[in-house]
Amino acid sequence: MSAHHLKLGAAIGALITLGLPAATFGQASTIVSEREPIVVYDESELNPARPGYAWEGASLLQDVRVIDGRGGAPAEGQDVLLADGRIHAIGPSGTLDVPADVRVLEGTGLTAMPGLIDAHMHLQGGWRGGNDNGPRPLTLKWDLLALLYAGVTHAYDIGNIPDRAADARDILAAGGWMGPDLTIAGTYFETAPVGAVGSNTLLPVPDATYIGAQLDSMKSVYGVEMVKCHSGISSQVLRVLVAAAHARQMRVVCDLWHNNGNPWIARQTHLDGYAHNTFMAKAPTAEDARLLAAEGTFVIATTVLMDTFSGARLAQEGIDYTRGNPLIRNVQPPHYLEAHDRGGLVASLERYAAITEAILGDVVSPDEARAQAVAWNKIMVDNGVLVGLGTDATYPSVWFGESMHREMEIWVNESGIAPLRTIQAATWDNARILKIDDRTGSIRPGLEGDLLVVEGNPAENISDTRNIRYVFTNGKLVDRESLTRQWRF
Ligand SMILES: [Zn+2]
Repeated sequence: MSAHHLKLGAAIGALITLGLPAATFGQASTIVSEREPIVVYDESELNPARPGYAWEGASLLQDVRVIDGRGGAPAEGQDVLLADGRIHAIGPSGTLDVPADVRVLEGTGLTAMPGLIDAHMHLQGGWRGGNDNGPRPLTLKWDLLALLYAGVTHAYDIGNIPDRAADARDILAAGGWMGPDLTIAGTYFETAPVGAVGSNTLLPVPDATYIGAQLDSMKSVYGVEMVKCHSGISSQVLRVLVAAAHARQMRVVCDLWHNNGNPWIARQTHLDGYAHNTFMAKAPTAEDARLLAAEGTFVIATTVLMDTFSGARLAQEGIDYTRGNPLIRNVQPPHYLEAHDRGGLVASLERYAAITEAILGDVVSPDEARAQAVAWNKIMVDNGVLVGLGTDATYPSVWFGESMHREMEIWVNESGIAPLRTIQAATWDNARILKIDDRTGSIRPGLEGDLLVVEGNPAENISDTRNIRYVFTNGKLVDRESLTRQWRF
């Protein structure tokens, strides 16, 4: 790497904490032993182009296979017309009226599916990597490019420093940055500080007036519809929080660690959904799933998070798995990857194994917890729970964008869920969870022109979602090459 390390000696040591998620386990990094070095890249290592679009006018995908995202069988030989930012029309090839200035893209052998939605991620602050809790919104520009590069056209920032997430959403909407459209949860509601500095709002007592005022702020100042509560919140406070939210036409999604997916807490508190499918103290059953379905509680699966807490990906694919993986290598800064390749990932994973041991060790092993989550996905799908699909990027080895494909592969190859059903979870079901299904998440006329177009047929081979030919967001054809090597400040 020919980047300038201002303090090279310290760089490697400091960077072994790469990917430590500021937003969730900030307390693990609050003992600062040294400042991390600034890495400035040579212009020759950077993309000379700015992130942009290849085409912003009307596009016609010709003779393409369409997966609608709502579980329908793939439709062969379709034309898809995108115009004015929207999916304008779909029909058998050759039957659509198209504008004269349309750009025609040959779709034979390709599959068009809805753009992916990551329903659980946290944009990172600073520019030093995941353990920089600072408020500077710079690393997140790389996160956003990585998401879009991987075909993620909408993402839910499920807990952050509110201004960081809201600024990112608004800058994207204003056209200042490239990335997916964002929905945000704003602050973490907690009864004790767990997340990063600035990201927590404490609700120590079930005081409906105080809680309501905090919700009003989230709604009116930050445009939040669904807030996040976090691992330590008491069920009494949660019950009041949910009631206050529902009174304001707001919702609550919660990460309750040992009790993620617990149907009785759902029934007690009426929370809207669980943010994870992992870390249950007791293996959940079909009866638990039926109770959740009856209560109408959704669950966002983040099985890929166990790549961090059990080191599953390292065990399955080895330390070199990022090499030759364009969804990682083309968009992750070399100083992250260099640290990873020098064993930083291993060191990071060891820290998380220690956290898992401390929290769950005498109840369930990390491998058992992962096996539970893998099995639970299928149980939930089979018993009618609305299950979405997320990642919890950025934990160590949970890469922005790429981890959506990994999560889908886990669903198909390990949980035994059909590819089409998995794609539905990653698109339409996520849109329903976020209540944006009238905007995006499936392929039908009138929705935003958010499309992932891949070589092959993901309905037969889920890994084909990685073979990305085109990404459209709001009807515009993304210049994917322009999203790579953008490691500027
Ligand atoms: Zn999270």
